Order: sequence, then structure tokens, then C-alpha cells
Amino acid sequence: MKLLPLPAFDDNYIWLLHDGHKALVVDPGDAQPVLQALQHHGLLLQGILVTHHHGDHTGGVSVLRESTGATVFGPVNETMPEPIQRVSEGDTINLLGLEIKVFDVPGHTAGHIAYYCTVDHESPLLFCGDTLFSGGCGRLFEGTAQQMQASLARLAQLPGATRVCCAHEYTLSNLKFALAVEPDNPRLVAYQTNCQALRMQNQPTLPSTIELERQINPFLRTTEATIIGSVAQFDATALARDGAFATLRQWKNQYR
Ligand SMILES: [Zn+2]
Ligand SMILES: [Zn+2]
Repeated sequence: MKLLPLPAFDDNYIWLLHDGHKALVVDPGDAQPVLQALQHHGLLLQGILVTHHHGDHTGGVSVLRESTGATVFGPVNETMPEPIQRVSEGDTINLLGLEIKVFDVPGHTAGHIAYYCTVDHESPLLFCGDTLFSGGCGRLFEGTAQQMQASLARLAQLPGATRVCCAHEYTLSNLKFALAVEPDNPRLVAYQTNCQALRMQNQPTLPSTIELERQINPFLRTTEATIIGSVAQFDATALARDGAFATLRQWKNQYR
């Protein structure tokens, strides 16, 4: 299986997975990069997986469906470019010979879903849209901090080797904030250096892994004493009232 992050817009990635013949894509906000990649590699598009309703994730769906006949999968209870097959927690999708599991991960949007699959002789794959980013998490547009925290905790329990395919290249700005929260985390310092080198060469910092995120992502680490200490310095009242996760998210919202 080949995994390609197709850059789109300013900082989106449309993930394309293929076996040399058939392909699936995740969150095609734009059809053009996908059509070009399909043509370049001589691939047939079998499926389109959508994580949530935002336009930068759905904008290319109709054109791709019409030009390839691919089946589109997306969340229940979100506005989608019809017709699609609605999927939710516990559903399994069969594409490219893979069994792709659906998780409900509300928070960024109310109906946000993620797709997870194991791959023979390779690390598992997680397509998590705008829920989990490397070093950060999505903004709370529709869900609550509690929902997002539960969604992230769920993803953090996946096997450590799982490749985390996020929908945006937000890593460097997330790491800047992560280091403000946790300046003495050696793994975080080293990861920032690696990611800066990748971005200097215009390479993606993704996919990340669950194991790495557990060590560097402050939003997966809100039970760590050092992080709670930093959050208390930011706003002790909010920490006492809303808890560490919600206060950390508020801090990130206003961090420059
Ligand atoms: Zn979004
Ligand atoms: Zn997005």
C-alpha cells in the first residue's frame, strides 16, 4: 500500500492510499490534485472517505464522484454532498481489501468521524481529519471540550505504531505552543528540530504516530503534573472551574 499526502489549499492534505491499481482518498476539499495523482499513477478511485462537513474537506467530492464513480462515505447528521453512504461508530467499510473501522470523534464538529484500519505487514492507519493534529487538536466549533477530550483519549489508545494522517500541516505552530506549555520535554524539543528541517525542504511533517503524539502532544497529556502547572500559571481560576483540558484549549485559542 502506498500512502500519499496530496497538498491542497494553504495547508490541507488530501490523503491518498493505493495498491498500484485502486485508490481511496480522504477529505478531498479540491478535486484537481486527486485527479492529477490518479492519472499520474494510473489509479482507479474506489472510495472517498469524508470526516466532517467543512468545505476544505468536501469541496472536491461531487466532481470526483461524477468523474470516477467512487462511493462516498461520510458522517451521519452532517450536511454532505449527496448521495453518500452514511457511517458511524462500529461500522466497517471494505475498500482496497482493507477493513476500515469508523469511530465517532465529536468535538471539532458535532458529527466528526475518524477512519482506522490495520494493514498487512505495515503499521495501522488513522485518518482523523481535524480532530487530532500533530502536537495539537482541532478547534471546538460545535462540540464541547469534554467531547474532544474523550475523542482524543480514544485515539490515544490505538496501537503506538499507528500512522496519524491529519488533514492539515499545522505541526510547527502547534509545537510552538506545545513548547510554551512544556518547555523541558526533550522529545518535544527534538521533534521540533526534525519538523523544522522537513518544512525547510517543503516536506510534510505527517504522518505522525500515536506513540509520538502521546509523548509530545499537550492535549493528550493534560494529566501530567508539568502541564497542569503551566495551565495553572495561564489561568488558575479557569483550571479550577473547567479542568486542564478545556483551559489548555482556551489558552491555545488566544496564543500567538
Ligand atoms: Zn474542519
Ligand atoms: Zn480542515
